[in-house]
Amino acid sequence: MARVKVIGAGLAGSECAFGLARRGHTVQLFEMRPAKSTAAHQTSNLAELVCSNSFRSSAPTNAVGLLKRELSMMDSLVMRCGELARVPAGDAFAVDRERFAAEVTRAIASEPRITLHRDEVLTLERDDFDFLVVATGPLTSHPLFEAIDEFLGRDGLYFYDAIAPILAADSLDLSKLYWKSRYGKGSGTDYLNAAMTKEQYETWIAALLAAELYPLHDFENAVHFEGCLPIEEIASRGIDTLRYGPMKPVGLEHPVTGERPHAVVQLRKEDLSDDYFNLVGFQTKMKAGEQKRILQMIPGLENCVIARHGSMHRNTFINGPKHLRATFQTKKDERVFFAGQITGVEGYVESSAVGLLTARYIDELARDGAASPLPFHTALGALGRHVSESHPDRYQPSNVTWAVIEDTIGRCKKIEKRERQVAKALATIESLAGAIA
Ligand SMILES: Cc1cc2nc3c(=O)[nH]c(=O)nc-3n(C[C@H](O)[C@H](O)[C@H](O)COP(=O)(O)OP(=O)(O)OC[C@H]3O[C@@H](n4cnc5c(N)ncnc54)[C@H](O)[C@@H]3O)c2cc1C
Repeated sequence: MARVKVIGAGLAGSECAFGLARRGHTVQLFEMRPAKSTAAHQTSNLAELVCSNSFRSSAPTNAVGLLKRELSMMDSLVMRCGELARVPAGDAFAVDRERFAAEVTRAIASEPRITLHRDEVLTLERDDFDFLVVATGPLTSHPLFEAIDEFLGRDGLYFYDAIAPILAADSLDLSKLYWKSRYGKGSGTDYLNAAMTKEQYETWIAALLAAELYPLHDFENAVHFEGCLPIEEIASRGIDTLRYGPMKPVGLEHPVTGERPHAVVQLRKEDLSDDYFNLVGFQTKMKAGEQKRILQMIPGLENCVIARHGSMHRNTFINGPKHLRATFQTKKDERVFFAGQITGVEGYVESSAVGLLTARYIDELARDGAASPLPFHTALGALGRHVSESHPDRYQPSNVTWAVIEDTIGRCKKIEKRERQVAKALATIESLAGAIA
């Protein structure tokens, strides 16, 4: 059995440590919070969700829907705790973030093979451990960032993205808002919607574009992940760009009048007690006072109280194709692994998935002397494909998408193809999951 040092007890580190312990390995897990925190974390819980409370779509033929099913089949800790903390959110898999993180923290604490150290790790020394896993996420502390940069030969990369504001439910004017999930999916009371006329929308866009933003620091170069752009950045690309993105009115026709608004702001339940709502896709780097002013221009939000402001944060990731194998081992040292968002996957589910995979690959190495990546036609395997086979000069963080999952079906109608891809991926995972347990 191996002795493994795991740095970072976020989604990836917790999932990895748990997977290793379940296979009989001993883990020393290091988490710097609460003594030292990041710009986004607010608690000392493990696996804290720093922004949205959603694990995204659960639709069976959606790529992240498939990834979640594969994770559950592989006995993922994150999926197990996610089920325990699940809140209604239409087609999406959303959780009560406090309950979720508390469940993960409890599971790690009750695992006798894991020792949790509340310490910041400053170097990449493997010491006398058999394996080292770096799972310190997009907000890796600065000293370790420096150590990683040096280990990789000064080839590290980082950029910034933004988080969405959360509003207090009792500050919303429900007489002006309406309940509806897009296309009427879900329970009907999962999302609140604020409708805008053309005139309201255009006045609001003009105000948004004039709003004061937090200044960029020297080390920020204003490069954002395209899937997580701040609203002001999206608005600057054209008057209608937000209407084709997070403010899309399609499928959100008013339930009484049947009319389709010009634009819609969607609010998703943030917690089980319905005390807070998250503004869907409204990440921003506006100054705090400006956020209040701009949001209060939206019908129904005139008196809104912001429970957590949107903000902008560093997002660290390494150049996967240059430095990682499909098994998340570094090319420089096969006993040093990276896991989670720092590998250049994007999202809670993907980060957790890499943690789970890393545990599997370390187990294989410890037992057989070699690790084999999962087939790329599975959603899990596709993450390894993304980090190892993307073009190194154009490498950007990515969610799991059908573009990353290998197509072994060939030409046929899209719906049929997706169904066959899902069936094949699940059959593959089922055969492999059996071997794990
Ligand atoms: C501001 C922001 C908002 C995001 N919003 C979303 C979202 O809405 N939806 C989504 O799917 N994804 C989002 N992401 C992306 C990503 O999925 C999450 O950041 C996810 O938590 C990544 O998981 P992880 O395990 O890789 O890192 P984390 O969950 O961040 O875990 C890393 C852990 O390592 C610890 N750590 C860091 N440095 C050290 C050190 N030197 N020593 C010891 N411990 C250390 C940290 O305290 C942390 O607990 C967001 C990212 C950021 C930065």
